[in-house]
Amino acid sequence: MRNTKHKLFHDKSLKCLHSDFDICGIVRNHFLGLCMRYKRRYGKGLSYTKMSAHLTKLKKLEKYKHWNIPYAWSLQNVVKRLAHSFGEMKTLGRGHPKFKSCKKHKGMTFDGGQALIEKVLDKQKNERNHPTYRIRLNRRWYRFALHRKIQGKITQVHVTRDALGDVYITLTEDFLEVKYEPKTGQAEGFDFGIKDAGKNFLTGSDGHRYTSPMFYKQNADDLAKAQKVYSRKVKGSKNQERCRKQVARIHKKTTNQRTDHHWKFAIDLCRQFDILFFEDLNLRGMKALFGKQVSDLAFGEFLQKLKHQSKKRSRSVLKIGRWTPTTKCCCVCGHKNKTLTLADRHWTCPRCHTHLDRDQNAALNILKEGVASFGLGVVRPIILLGKIVGCSVEATSPLLKSTNAFA
Ligand SMILES: [Zn+2]
Repeated sequence: MRNTKHKLFHDKSLKCLHSDFDICGIVRNHFLGLCMRYKRRYGKGLSYTKMSAHLTKLKKLEKYKHWNIPYAWSLQNVVKRLAHSFGEMKTLGRGHPKFKSCKKHKGMTFDGGQALIEKVLDKQKNERNHPTYRIRLNRRWYRFALHRKIQGKITQVHVTRDALGDVYITLTEDFLEVKYEPKTGQAEGFDFGIKDAGKNFLTGSDGHRYTSPMFYKQNADDLAKAQKVYSRKVKGSKNQERCRKQVARIHKKTTNQRTDHHWKFAIDLCRQFDILFFEDLNLRGMKALFGKQVSDLAFGEFLQKLKHQSKKRSRSVLKIGRWTPTTKCCCVCGHKNKTLTLADRHWTCPRCHTHLDRDQNAALNILKEGVASFGLGVVRPIILLGKIVGCSVEATSPLLKSTNAFA
């Protein structure tokens, strides 16, 4: 499966697609209200099959005639997603689905067979970088620039719009993308840092520190200025709408910068190491403790991207258990320092007298635990003049390369 995202051109016809989004939002609100009323009266919500049958009935009425404009499949998908979110309330403990303004409805899904895609002959004199294609959604054509060649059969098309009014299509193909790159035989443990995260986003077990540019922090001043201007405008005015878009633009820029950095960083790590060990973190709990900074680093999103790249390049990203002690234990002798606080960046082990760097010690513990628990070999830290300078790996698995301290 491969997903590629393309932006639709700002043609006049895009208005129609926006009104289709609005209809999807209205249908969602209608069925959410119906479910809630049903639950109040009979003590039980509606299933997807019942809602879907009811939707078909409603569409025949004169009052809901306009619901026939979008394809039936995408409206049914809206109802399906609603039923799914009701189900997640029970299984995953998620919150109750809420009513949303139909203008804020963001997604629409089409079956791959419904969306026709064909090439358009460009009338422009200057040649474009990417060929122009057009896609047929809800009986209308929309143009876009195809920047990645379609390799397999398209199974699904997901259409999304953002706060700026831009519409994107995500094409899902039944095609497995593989990149062959030489294996390095290296394994590395990583510790996620929050304190002073701008300089210390990840620490490797070899002592290397990876920084994060902290894009939200960078754009915070611009955002504050734009929000202040927005708050002063008359409600419902054209000026206010213009300023709302300016705020949305800054948010979008931040997200784009972060995503770009994450992809590049993930590819870089995959090229250096074969096996990457991480700690399983309680990010929701961390967000409550440290606030915005955790969201700015977006560690969970980064891990998702890293997993995707590792699959593509046949590397492995492995997690060690949440309850394994990594920070407070000495990686040389295993002594547990119970008095360690978040402010202590360096400490000396009272048992073996090794001078330890807090983050590197944790990263080494993660590597040690990971290599041992997955049965790949043994890791030993190398100490020179009471300081850790690296680690030697004694591999028992062919996936890993043995490295000697004195080699
Ligand atoms: Zn020790």
